[in-house]
Amino acid sequence: MPNRNNIRHKLGDKGAEIDVSFEFFPPSSDKQNETLWASVKRLAPLNPAFVSVTYGAGGSTRERTHKTVSRIVSEAGLKAAAHITCVGATREEIDDVLDSYADAGVSDIVALRGDPPEGVGEKYQPYPGGYEQTADLVAAIKKRGSFEVAVSAYPEKHPESADIWADIEYLKRKVDAGADRAITQFFFDNDVFETYLERVRKAGITIPIIPGIAPVHNFKQIANFAARCGTHVPDWLRHRFEGLDDDPFTRQLIAAAVASEQVMDLVDRGISDFHFYTMNRADLVFAICHMLGVRNTSS
Ligand code: FAD
Repeated sequence: MPNRNNIRHKLGDKGAEIDVSFEFFPPSSDKQNETLWASVKRLAPLNPAFVSVTYGAGGSTRERTHKTVSRIVSEAGLKAAAHITCVGATREEIDDVLDSYADAGVSDIVALRGDPPEGVGEKYQPYPGGYEQTADLVAAIKKRGSFEVAVSAYPEKHPESADIWADIEYLKRKVDAGADRAITQFFFDNDVFETYLERVRKAGITIPIIPGIAPVHNFKQIANFAARCGTHVPDWLRHRFEGLDDDPFTRQLIAAAVASEQVMDLVDRGISDFHFYTMNRADLVFAICHMLGVRNTSS
């Protein structure tokens, strides 16, 4: 199993030390499985700080998430984080899941509340016998084992939050419960992220806040998703993808350019860690990482 030895990548001309992480989702068919593993194999040599695997809405992928994370640890030798939500599981069931992750050598958990099984926008109801809020889940995970715990953060506030201050207060509760780092919802406006970071620091939150970067594989799809999760899609971004519905090759080139511009600008603002929402596809993320100076460290 390769040893990461805390390698950070140097971005030559900027002198910055960059670290990246990658998010995958558990595959639900043989074809998706092939795509995922091809992507893991392509991205693994870039020596990510960690990779994470999501947990299906409503707790629907418990086994598949477990299988995927365990295989990433045992076969790819990467540090892996399993997402867990409060949805659809009792406290005892979550304890069992945590124990099985510890047995499989999984050191990191991404702890989330999750969305109501009825769908985004419906009223959230805690599962009977389960954890009510994310902060309770974080505290329980820290108590159960020696896991590092990441939580979510929302630069444009979570749709259920009254305002950004309520949202930051909620993040603080998760940090007070033991969260070690936060990964943000994706965003396209770096000014919004910078302002958010300033506010978070002023609120006394000192853990790393890692920006979540979503390369635009498919503009329509990401615009729909952004509308549901409260991410603003700027006009300039819409304009760049206009008229390209039938031109996947050009879309891909533009997507790489857009995401590279975004991360380079964040580097200029002092950010050095990035979490990529890969959608289980490697090419765009590989190209953006290359631009960032993140290269194969084993060759
Ligand atoms: P929390 O941080 O617990 O809450 C979000 C906001 O809602 C809070 O900031 C707060 O303002 C408000 N809020 C929540 N509860 C209360 C309350 N009781 N009182 C007052 N305000 C409250 N979903 C999945 O199903 N599976 C995944 O694998 C997954 N991975 C994710 C990874 C990242 C990095 C992110 C950003 C999101 C992910 N999600 C995932 C989506 C997430 O589950 C939803 O956004 C969900 O609606 C909120 O969960 P959370 O843990 O982010 O919420």
